[in-house]
Amino acid sequence: PHGTKLLHDPLRNKGTAFTEAERDALGLRGLLPPHIHTQEEQMARVLENLRQIDDPLQKYVALAALHDRNEALFFRVVCDNVDEIMPLIYTPTVGLACQRYGHIFQRPRGMFISVNDRGRVAEILRNWPLKAGIIVVTDGERILGLGDQGANGMGIPVGKLSLYTACAGVEPSLCLPVTLDMGTNNETLLADPYYVGLRRHRVTGPDYDELIDEFITAAREVFPDVIIQFEDFANHNAFRLLEKYRDRICTFNDDIQGTAAVALAGVLSALRVKGTRLADEKFLFLGAGEAATGIADLIVAAMVAEGIDVAEARKHCWLVDSKGLVVRSREGLAAQKLPYAHEHAPVADFPSALKVLKPTGIIGVAAVGGTFTPEVLRAMADNNPRPIVFALSNPTSKAECTAEQAYQGTDGRALFASGSPFGPVQFGGKTLVPRQGNNCYIFPGVGLGAIACGATRISDEMFLAAARTAADEVTAADLEQGSLLPSLSSIRAVSVRIAVAVAEVAWRRGLAARPRPDDPLALVQSHVYDPHYRTYAERAPAA
Ligand code: NAP
Ligand code: MN
Repeated sequence: PHGTKLLHDPLRNKGTAFTEAERDALGLRGLLPPHIHTQEEQMARVLENLRQIDDPLQKYVALAALHDRNEALFFRVVCDNVDEIMPLIYTPTVGLACQRYGHIFQRPRGMFISVNDRGRVAEILRNWPLKAGIIVVTDGERILGLGDQGANGMGIPVGKLSLYTACAGVEPSLCLPVTLDMGTNNETLLADPYYVGLRRHRVTGPDYDELIDEFITAAREVFPDVIIQFEDFANHNAFRLLEKYRDRICTFNDDIQGTAAVALAGVLSALRVKGTRLADEKFLFLGAGEAATGIADLIVAAMVAEGIDVAEARKHCWLVDSKGLVVRSREGLAAQKLPYAHEHAPVADFPSALKVLKPTGIIGVAAVGGTFTPEVLRAMADNNPRPIVFALSNPTSKAECTAEQAYQGTDGRALFASGSPFGPVQFGGKTLVPRQGNNCYIFPGVGLGAIACGATRISDEMFLAAARTAADEVTAADLEQGSLLPSLSSIRAVSVRIAVAVAEVAWRRGLAARPRPDDPLALVQSHVYDPHYRTYAERAPAA
């Protein structure tokens, strides 16, 4: 009889849903009230309680507590109510949860490794009781568009890994969120008595690189097949670390590569509406960081796959950063901007660049709220019958414009997607349903596919395959109502198809540890976690 152990193990707990047979077989008799609830009844109770809370942050706290008590119920609630719950466990609420992390803290989730742990990271990772298959790691330096949140950034790996399970059915026991506490330069946090991280400024240089390297080496030693996803690192580290590790281990950076794939999927849908090809489009990015150059690189890769020369393809993408249009004559440009530093006179800012370049699409990823002003939207509408307008910055406060503003500002003609969710908009007697250009359409399926085939590397070609697969799931009816991505309610099915597409690339390119089976779909499905309760004891007790 280890009944109490079971009740305190979130991976196995079923609460009041333990059956009569289980209560007898597992020593639970008396530890639970007599009435046996179904998981559906428990779900209804959770939702009823949740809906009585007004404050999204308190809803987040309630859901986190459920996650800590009963994983299956948590994931049933999430999976059966994605539209309602996703914004609570991920963007926008997760941004607030990170900012308030120390204040709402109840129970740790995941692992914290700090600069003080140099030399013993492997030993620390062995404290994790399970065999990790996928790690999402952050150093908290660029949390969403909210900047340095230090160790409070843990909300992001936790949230992302919940989405792996909710959106693709990755086994929760395989998921390990990790925060590397390198210090923080956020003075508000340093002065906050409830802050959970080290009271020190960020380490840089070799101290930083050596901890990262020790972590990567240790993670692969302790969990040999693990996939390591880098998340919300500041741009000066993100590109560097991706280049350093992408050909050595199974890793990717979701802010660069996952964002790229979801944005490309949205673009491909927009092209279907317009009846054009990528080569007919000219994109102007507001922002030239991880998201912008990641998206531009994948758009270029897609054009190259259509037979266009790479130099020619790059000319279809233009970037504006904090210093104005990225042009050839500018000095000291970061390496990732160089392919898009075209020959052009300097231009001071985004509205001016819009005037001179007349793009067919604008993609906002600078984390500066409100930058797609009515003037910007008007210019797009004047130059294009169907302007592409993606306001991808997160959280909602950083969005370049709302869905309503995008449609209002373009006579309802904008082909719109956003990073954070916006509800349907009534325009000209029509209901327009904007969808989230959110990475959650991509990375969960990529991870599931990588796990299923035992991927040894994650390649850009896999993200291209993921983007195409996601775009293929968008129906004519979706396009008719302005939806450029599939509905969130179909996300589990979409993720499974993406997983198959990703695994197929791995098999084709010799990047899989496991051989291709006759039925790849069945293989992927065999790795999908089902949040319905398992039965632990079948037989009714002897009378
Ligand atoms: P990042 O690497 O830090 O890049 C930010 C870029 O914005 C930099 O190039 C910066 O210019 C530029 N910038 C900052 N202020 C500007 C201004 N006033 N005018 C013009 N450009 C300005 O960040 P990131 O990873 O690309 O993320 C950016 C945003 O995209 C965040 O809000 C993030 O949440 C969002 N995002 C959304 C998704 C999604 O699923 N929708 C995915 C990933 C990221 P400099 O280069 O000159 O510094
Ligand atoms: Mn991110």
